Amino acid sequence: MQTLWDVLIIGGGPAGGLAALDCAKQGMRVLLVEQRSFPRWKVCGCCFNNQAQAILSSRGESNLIVDCGGQTLDSLRLGLRGREATLSLPNGYVLSRERFDQALIHAAIKAGATARFAITAQIEATSPGYRRVRLKDHQSGATSHVKARVVLVAAGLCQRCLPKNEAGQSRIRKQSRHGAGCVVDDDSDHYPSGAIHMAIGDQGYVGLVRREDGLLNLAGAFDRDALSQGRGAVDAAQHVLNQAGFPVPPTLQRGQRWQLTPALSRNADVVAGERFLVMGDAAGYVEPFTGEGMAWALTAGAAAAPFVLEGLERWTGDLETRWKTTLQVHIGRRQMVCRALSSVLKRPVPTTVLFELVTRWPSVAESIVSSLNEEKLPSAKGEPCL
Ligand SMILES: Cc1cc2nc3c(=O)[nH]c(=O)nc-3n(C[C@H](O)[C@H](O)[C@H](O)COP(=O)(O)OP(=O)(O)OC[C@H]3O[C@@H](n4cnc5c(N)ncnc54)[C@H](O)[C@@H]3O)c2cc1C
Repeated sequence: MQTLWDVLIIGGGPAGGLAALDCAKQGMRVLLVEQRSFPRWKVCGCCFNNQAQAILSSRGESNLIVDCGGQTLDSLRLGLRGREATLSLPNGYVLSRERFDQALIHAAIKAGATARFAITAQIEATSPGYRRVRLKDHQSGATSHVKARVVLVAAGLCQRCLPKNEAGQSRIRKQSRHGAGCVVDDDSDHYPSGAIHMAIGDQGYVGLVRREDGLLNLAGAFDRDALSQGRGAVDAAQHVLNQAGFPVPPTLQRGQRWQLTPALSRNADVVAGERFLVMGDAAGYVEPFTGEGMAWALTAGAAAAPFVLEGLERWTGDLETRWKTTLQVHIGRRQMVCRALSSVLKRPVPTTVLFELVTRWPSVAESIVSSLNEEKLPSAKGEPCL
């Protein structure tokens, strides 16, 4: 492997994949490293919203989701204490993360990027003109070093790839819930494709979608206490489904393997530093509802290339400040709505009131969902669009 790269991207999720695609298309020498072997499953509702689709289209990848078998999503079915409400969704899709993340990286490789899997990256001290990055190969156990003039940290919720003295603090919000998810075989007709089925309970919520392969994807956010009782995530999910009045898929009770995440809602106080930019979940996390998480990650990935190009010429404090503003303008503002929603859903009375409003005035709720889906592309010049 060559040892000096224009840009090294840590993480092969939507943020890293899109940044790799964009930077490679602009002729940069791109290395993407991912610690897991692909394709990999991850806890996620697998729903893509209109903004995600708009970013992909703007990069010439408008068919990527459909070509991978992505299914359209046109409604959000909410369940609370045996009552139901359905909202329409604009231009939604569902596609498994195994297929989506892999396809995005393939597109980046086709554009000229190099990708390496089963390798963990750790940024080391800065040197004039580049960052040194340590790579640990999981298969051989060997450690090597590469240099990169810019590093993009797209390493997800619990990234630990920055040196301690530059990493800052990831502040976990009070009452933050934990994510959990699994995939089950379910041939019932309770959860048809085309909808996100969202069960809301007192100690969390569960989103169920039918994937392109017919399997049922479950992803939820639960209070920590709910996960520490009984059989953990299985019981917590079952409890939420029962409370909402949604049927429990029989295979769930047989104890499928669940994956858990650490506490979800968190702020990162460092999103840029000497020759690195942080993006996607690594830059802070707010619980998404109808496909916002990947849209935010893709938006950040799409905003990076002009900053990298500028940083190749000259790295400045002003560039770091503009990156922070760009994240705030394109993602922070949209996250405010989801943050407010997740805070309501942690309290039974406001949840009931919100549900009543949704049932009586679905058009008001639909306009909130539409605002989260509104298309906004980052500037091609590295300027925050205010
Ligand atoms: C319960 C739940 C449901 C969700 N549902 C949805 C949904 O329906 N729609 C939606 O849009 N979003 C949803 N999300 C959010 C979505 O999953 C994330 O926002 C999205 O994956 C963020 O993308 P990313 O590229 O920032 O990080 P990730 O997708 O997490 O990718 C980061 C990658 O970096 C790799 N990595 C980490 N450290 C290193 C290292 N040191 N070296 C190399 N590689 C490393 C990891 O292995 C990982 O593959 C959900 C999240 C949860 C928890």
